[in-house]
Amino acid sequence: MQTSGKSDAEFDVIVIGVGGMGSAACYALARRGLRILGLDRFPLVHDQGSSHGESRIIRKAYFEHPDYVPLLHRAYELWHDLERVSGRELFRQTGLVLSGTADGETIRGTRLSAEQHHLELQNFSANEARRRFPGFAFPNHHDVAFEPIAGTLFVEDCVRAHLDGAVQRGAIIRGSEPVTDWSSDGKSVCVRTAMHEYRARSLVITSGAWATECLRDLQMPLTVVRKFVGWFPHHNDAFLADRGCPAYFFELPHGTFYGIPGFDSTTIKVAEHSGGETVTDLTRIDRSCHPGDLVRLQSFLTDHLPGVGPEPARYSVCLYTLTPDRHFSIDLHPKWNNVAFAAGFSGHGFKFCPVVGEALADLVQRGTAALPIGFPGCRRDGLDRVGDEITV
Ligand SMILES: Cc1cc2nc3c(=O)[nH]c(=O)nc-3n(C[C@H](O)[C@H](O)[C@H](O)COP(=O)(O)OP(=O)(O)OC[C@H]3O[C@@H](n4cnc5c(N)ncnc54)[C@H](O)[C@@H]3O)c2cc1C
Repeated sequence: MQTSGKSDAEFDVIVIGVGGMGSAACYALARRGLRILGLDRFPLVHDQGSSHGESRIIRKAYFEHPDYVPLLHRAYELWHDLERVSGRELFRQTGLVLSGTADGETIRGTRLSAEQHHLELQNFSANEARRRFPGFAFPNHHDVAFEPIAGTLFVEDCVRAHLDGAVQRGAIIRGSEPVTDWSSDGKSVCVRTAMHEYRARSLVITSGAWATECLRDLQMPLTVVRKFVGWFPHHNDAFLADRGCPAYFFELPHGTFYGIPGFDSTTIKVAEHSGGETVTDLTRIDRSCHPGDLVRLQSFLTDHLPGVGPEPARYSVCLYTLTPDRHFSIDLHPKWNNVAFAAGFSGHGFKFCPVVGEALADLVQRGTAALPIGFPGCRRDGLDRVGDEITV
């Protein structure tokens, strides 16, 4: 560990929040032979945060920035490794079709990443794409790109596999035990819940939408957004994953929309990546379905997935935690080098979970991450106000 000297702490590392990132951090740390305690405010593998809803897209030709690609190479390796170790199917290779104007962020950025990192990307005109992917109506003026290696991660199974793997390696994981505050003296940390007080040498904070509460002293400029996701009914084999239906992403003038073929043979998942209502009180998230949640999705479906029914067979409400530039914040706490955090995954973080887990393990163990996580940490937002004790 980074801190020196003997310690009477019960644990080497405590992880606050064991959703997507925290479960992966517990696994990475436990694999290194460390004594780990993971705590979550909700029962484990829940649907109250950001890591639920059946599926997540994983891809390599990353339109957000080519610098993510090395992390994605590693993410693919680690997900495959976890699949092998856990004996569960975590990934299904469906491919991803992206539709947008040639000069839009999606197509331009995807092509740039593919070019720079020599990734396979197939390019189509809208007409060619309609023949290749018959369920979709691509606008005539769009360029279409298809990344064959992209696919779907089964989100709850991924979290479960990380947690089970950590427990098998000796980690203690407790759900329904919210952390109320933590403090550090640089050599050890004290973490309090309503039930217990725990001590460890280091702390990892991966509290998702609750990051601003758990890292209050950093005053991170994070915005939590409510996201509605629906599974809409169809009777079209073109939307079946095992008949070649890919995940899809459309950049349109009024917003970006995406989805994943349902794995139940009767529905397809549809959501809007752009927009969303800002959440000001995390204790009062509206998890019901309103007409306002459906209007934009229904209009997208009519125009681009004709034949898909307008009323969702089921739906889910999930949370994005946005940074101003939509890149992630993964770093050591500016005051305490035995406290690391990962936050602000801005609606595109899940695919990176095992990479973030490794990076956090590196940060608390060695003070620096082997992987290039260098979208500069919270300091890029000019955050320098820190305190000693955080009440969550
Ligand atoms: C609808 C939707 C679609 C998405 N699609 C994709 C996609 O296709 N591909 C992709 O890569 N990413 C996608 N994402 C983003 C991705 O899912 C998130 O970036 C990722 O799940 C964030 O993980 P996390 O660990 O930060 O948050 P979470 O998984 O929510 O984990 C945070 C955990 O901290 C716990 N916690 C909080 N406070 C405390 C406390 N005080 N004490 C104890 N525990 C606490 C919470 O209970 C929670 O379990 C999507 C997100 C959403 C919402």
